[in-house]
Amino acid sequence: MSDTATSRIAEVVVAPNLPALFVADLHLTDKRPQTTDAFFAFLSGPARQAGSVFILGDLFEYWVGDDDVDSVFNRSICNALRATVDAGIAVYFMTGNRDLLAGQGFAQASGVQLLADTASVRFTERTLLLSHGDALCTDDHEYQAFRLQARNREWQAGFLAQPMPVRRALIEKLRDQSEAAKYGKRAEIMDVNGDAVVSLLRSHAYPTLIHGHTHRPARHAYLIDGRHCERHVLPDWDDHAVWLAFDGVEFSVCSDVAS
Ligand code: MN
Repeated sequence: MSDTATSRIAEVVVAPNLPALFVADLHLTDKRPQTTDAFFAFLSGPARQAGSVFILGDLFEYWVGDDDVDSVFNRSICNALRATVDAGIAVYFMTGNRDLLAGQGFAQASGVQLLADTASVRFTERTLLLSHGDALCTDDHEYQAFRLQARNREWQAGFLAQPMPVRRALIEKLRDQSEAAKYGKRAEIMDVNGDAVVSLLRSHAYPTLIHGHTHRPARHAYLIDGRHCERHVLPDWDDHAVWLAFDGVEFSVCSDVAS
């Protein structure tokens, strides 16, 4: 593996006067063509009016390794991202838990720039902090143990050494197990932990946090050490495009559903 954590961008300065769009948890797969079409329409429509697009993880339902970048489905996604980048839009991508192994090969095929989790985005008057969000779900000990394992370099190397069909079968099994495990867990356990959020905001000088993963779209306000902070939770995609836009001053939640 050529990519390391250090090759991922931890701080972005965006072009002023152009909105930034944030999406997460699209869970793209050839089994949900309507969501895929919504993504293509998003990239060729609203994204073209923005200065930058930030994809905060779980773009794909799963990613078995960068050597799968040439599958018909993955290639179609990469081509659509590439066309957007070629049109002058900066597209940034942070991995989630489902597409953790998307790295330099994916970036080269799609033109996206890889972001670290967490990453800061500096606007003229405000700094945003971006994360996938799963690291904040510290009450789910079982998940955190798996997360630690999946981020271990040796575990990843062992996984990637398997033939692609074996990897695909293993990932599908892990996904089914995680879906089944959800039924046995209380809802609060699978949400972010309040203390984890506070300590993250405190350690980054009280920014506005944007994350996905929990599929609980909301805008939360905090007062921490006398400082006002916000946490925006991005929605997941289900047949439709949904995104958060920030123009440097105001946030707006947008979708392709006619209101
Ligand atoms: Mn996730």
